[in-house]
Amino acid sequence: MNYSRYVTTLSQNRQGSLIREMTSLLTNASPELVFMAGGLPNPHMFPFQAASVTLKDGRALTLHPKLMTDCLQYGPTPGYPPLVKQLKDLTQKLHSPPCWSDTELIVTAGSQDGLCKAIEMMINPGDYFVTQEPCYTGTLSILNPYKPCYLTVSSDHEGMRPEALREALAQWRPEDVKDSDGNVPKVLYINPNACNPTGVSLTEERRREIYRIASDYNLIILEDDPYYFVQFGDMKDFPPSFLSMDIEGRVLRFDSFSKVLSSGIRVGYVTGPKPLIQRVLLHMQVSILHAPSVSQVLVSELLKTWGEEGFFNHTHSVQEFYLKQRNAMVAAAEKHLTGLCEWAVPTGGMFLWLKLPNVPDTWDMILKRALKKNIVLVPGRAFMCDSSKPCNYMRAAFSIVTPDQMDTGFKNLAELIHEEMQR
Ligand code: PMP
Repeated sequence: MNYSRYVTTLSQNRQGSLIREMTSLLTNASPELVFMAGGLPNPHMFPFQAASVTLKDGRALTLHPKLMTDCLQYGPTPGYPPLVKQLKDLTQKLHSPPCWSDTELIVTAGSQDGLCKAIEMMINPGDYFVTQEPCYTGTLSILNPYKPCYLTVSSDHEGMRPEALREALAQWRPEDVKDSDGNVPKVLYINPNACNPTGVSLTEERRREIYRIASDYNLIILEDDPYYFVQFGDMKDFPPSFLSMDIEGRVLRFDSFSKVLSSGIRVGYVTGPKPLIQRVLLHMQVSILHAPSVSQVLVSELLKTWGEEGFFNHTHSVQEFYLKQRNAMVAAAEKHLTGLCEWAVPTGGMFLWLKLPNVPDTWDMILKRALKKNIVLVPGRAFMCDSSKPCNYMRAAFSIVTPDQMDTGFKNLAELIHEEMQR
């Protein structure tokens, strides 16, 4: 593929940082190397000596002085090498990317960081951007300052509708746009599993059809998948990722440990075609330099201590927890909101997406009146590309509330909706 058509002038203008490139020479350097480049602070002057982190299963991660130095020192931009290797192994196991030898993986400060840099790499102000709607607010917040021309694709209980994607693109003929360097659709954003905010996942059939359409129109697919491990069901039945079906090198996949290990630890990773990953890397070289070393070492040591089986046991327990939470929230919704709201039962993640057929817009109801009923939810407009239009949806998170709170919260919400219907 010719990747230059996807890369903005700003991104093309980025040059590698000499000092950053030199720092990478320290990885696996021979003891004879006299490294006088780079302003690496002397770790002897750092006040931290060693650390031990106790896991909930009782085991301890011991960060002895050498590991502690890895935690505290500048590291290579693509990530802490042992972690990069572990993540590559995991990605190969879970997704077997067909173009693996042309694929690169780098660690980012959460997937938001990777998304933000990938979008900056590919979008100029006013460019087209094809996205599922509703769409994760964090992505819209990155995009809105570019004032893009959104091509929105509706979704239902099985995720983005491929026929709606074809309709959104129907004003162009594939042969007219696929090699064009002009302002034509080039990027498709999709959150395939346990979508934020709808809570539903794309079926395998739809994924294959969407990939075909992306191929016809030569679109890069931004596969934002932080809820991969929070899908409800057996891992062996998870639908294939876009990365796993990417025979043409058109997928940039964003993974995150936020939902399964820690969100504050800020570790995510981006996998995709080398020429595009290289551009994201150049941006990192001048912004965060690399994802935090302490976090990367901690995740790496955790994965090492657990091994693959231990990691999957953990992700399974995370799934089971959120499944129970989902069941409790759906039960509370059935009890209090039947007839007032409609919803699809989430297939993963942390959110219930509620439609209010009798309330034309939830914005004022939520932002001006819900707090008086002691409840806070997110109004649907926050997930719409044009947030000025009325939207009769809202998002309820079942991640941190207890079943009792869900019951009280939805009882209060029902009262609020009744009052709203009288207005
Ligand atoms: N994408 C989606 C769809 C999300 O829901 C989130 C977190 N809310 C992110 C990306 C960002 O996650 P991270 O913490 O890895 O930056």
